[in-house]
Formats: sequence, C-alpha cells, structure tokens
Amino acid sequence: MFKVESKINGALGRAGVLHTSHGEIKTPAFATVGTKATVKALTPEQVRDTGSQVVLANTFHLFLQPGERVVKMAGGLNRFMNWPGPTITDSGGFQVFSLGAAFSSEKSGGTKRKISKIAKVPADENIILDDGQQGGGGLAIIDEDGVSFRDPSSGAPHRLTPERSIEIQRSLGADVIFSFDECTSPFAPHEYQKEAMERTHRWAERCLVNHRNKGESKIRRITREILKIEEEKEINPTQQLFGIVQGGRFEDLRKDSARVIGKMDFDGFGIGGSFGKADIDEALRWVNIILPEEKPRHLLGIGEPVDLILGVENGADLFDCVIPTRMGRNGGLFTKNGKINITNSKFKKDFSRIEDDCRCYTCQNYTMAYLAHLFKAREMLAATLASIHNLYFINNLMSEIRKSILEGYFPKFKDEFLKKYKS
Ligand SMILES: [Zn+2]
Repeated sequence: MFKVESKINGALGRAGVLHTSHGEIKTPAFATVGTKATVKALTPEQVRDTGSQVVLANTFHLFLQPGERVVKMAGGLNRFMNWPGPTITDSGGFQVFSLGAAFSSEKSGGTKRKISKIAKVPADENIILDDGQQGGGGLAIIDEDGVSFRDPSSGAPHRLTPERSIEIQRSLGADVIFSFDECTSPFAPHEYQKEAMERTHRWAERCLVNHRNKGESKIRRITREILKIEEEKEINPTQQLFGIVQGGRFEDLRKDSARVIGKMDFDGFGIGGSFGKADIDEALRWVNIILPEEKPRHLLGIGEPVDLILGVENGADLFDCVIPTRMGRNGGLFTKNGKINITNSKFKKDFSRIEDDCRCYTCQNYTMAYLAHLFKAREMLAATLASIHNLYFINNLMSEIRKSILEGYFPKFKDEFLKKYKS
C-alpha cells in the first residue's frame, strides 16, 4: 500500500506514495487537521484548493459528539463531512491524557500547566500529581486495561480501552487509523516512561487483534459461521492500522519501542509523544533507523516549517498539526521569511500581498490592509482567508520538498529555505 519512490542521499528521508481506497497520498505530506470532522472556517472545496491531500479528524471529539454511530449511519467520515479524499483518525489517546492537564490546571487555581500529567493510582486511593498536589475524581485515570475519564464539558464518565478505540475508529471509517497509546509528559522520569511504553506495547497488540478480527470474538465468529449469518458490513474494509512508537526523550526507550512496535504487523507507524525543539531530528533518527523501511511513518502533531523539513530529512512521511489553521485564526501568517502577525499596525495601510509569488486564493485576491481590517473588525472571513494562505503555504512546502527529493536536490532546498526562514 506504500511505495518508496526516491530517497535522500545519505539520510533517512524519502518520497513515496501511500495508496488508500479514497485515493493516493503523495508523500511527504501534511494532513490537514479537521478535529470535529470539519477544518475550521473552510469548506472541503476550499481545503482541497489549498493542496491538502488528506484530512485528519480526532476520535476523541467525534466519540463525544456526535458519537461514532451517527458518523457510521452517515456512511463514514468522508460522507458525513463531504470530503472525498483520504482521511485519518488518531486513537484518542493524546486527548484523553491531555485531560489530566486540563483538570489539574483548574485545580491548581488557574495556573496553566503546559504538560499533561496523568496520575496512575490504584482505584481506591487519592490521585497524587507529580508536584505532590492531591487531585480529585475528575482526572483521567489509567489502569492496565484502559483509561477512565470525564467529558470535559458535561462531566459524564467515559472509558476508553484499546479495543474500544479501534471499534470507534472502525465506525468512523477513516483510511488510516492509530493504535491506542499512552502519551506521557516529556519530563516524566525514565522509570515511568518505561512503564507507560511497555503498556503502550501491550495495548498495540490488543489493537492489532481487534483490528484483525474486526472486533468479533472467536465464539461469535464461529456461531455466525454455523448459523450462516452474514458479516456486518464495514464502512471502510481497507482501513490501515498504524502502531505508535513512544519512549519520551530517552534513547534506549525510543529504540526499544521502535524495535517492538516495528516487528508487529502494522500497516505503518506513528511516532508519538512530545519532542524538544532541539532533539526532534535526533529522536527521529533513533526510531526511523529501526522501523521497517517499506512502511509509512507519521510524525504526530508536528507542523512548524523547520520541523517539517527536519522531520522529512530524518525519515517521516506524514505529519499533522493544528498550527496553520489555529495560528491563522489569530492573525499569524507564514511567509518564506518567517511568521508575521497581520494584526500588527504596520500592515494597516499595506496594500501589497502577503507574498507576491504565493498562488493561494487569498494572495491572488486580497491585500494585507484588507486582511488587517477583517481581523480588526473581527469578521469571519478573516479566519477563512488566513487559514487558506497558511494551509497553502504548508502544502506547497511539502510538495516542494517532495520535488527536491525526487529530483535529487533536497540538501540545497533545505539550506536555502532555512537561510531565509526566521522562526
Ligand atoms: Zn497566499
């Protein structure tokens, strides 16, 4: 299903094609994030016109609302959101574990804690956070079988297990789905990272079994075969399951995780967890030198231009991130010289384009002064036009990287881009 077309000389990076039942994804590629089965402020046609090949939606959000059954009844994610191209769903793991941070920041009197921390405790004990603070029943709680958590808005209790995550993703029907993993704080100690990683490995095995059996138990399958009952029709019978490599910032754990997950029968791999800006390329090399070369690799949650270039060079094929759209909605715009903020007063009377040579719809039709005015007036079109430019910028960057790999001048492309781009 994945084919490597060309490699970067002396590096782990490559260009390839990932085939799905909703069309091919030419890699390296950036997956546009449509968290709740919509890319905020854009119609699917506008998303397509920015050069986006694939949309990634979040299992956790769709599970809470409208519920995976509604999406299944609609005929799957594609039909529900009217996006005809390839789709990806994450496993819900990251969002569930982030709940720990959300709840703990509330409890610590509004002090924002950037890093999620999930307490692991026996069910009958109080939750103790890593800073020694006593937590309450509102946190996500992890055990060997899965995670219990509360809906952040309604407070309703829920439970996610590896099997449940795969079942939900099967109902959503995306082309690429992910195994359920435990995301840890990058500052978690080695001992905890190791424990969480080993649990993630056991969960990966369970996800594979559920995916292979399509969620059907052995007894149920035999009964169905004896009674000649037809198998339930799947939304997407060619769904590809990616396993997730964890291990935090520790070299031994990352390598161990790549070896264990790499040997399992996954269609591709996700590389999860947090990375520091300085160590992203090194951590990727540890992992990608071990993962099987013939399968695709998705670096989860990364989308800054410089990180994309380093990510590709070090063997990642797919990326996703909310940055282009979230930053756009706040007036942040990508340019080849770095980021600008259109709300800055210096753009008020600037009747030039964001970038003269950009071929996006926004740059073809609007000036910076007009965009600055839309943001100042809090007009909805501001978010649309800014998101269009940013997505086009990132998609165009990915296709330029791809071209440079296919035609053998990636190092030159990288040097020239990094020389200009001030992050
Ligand atoms: Zn543009």
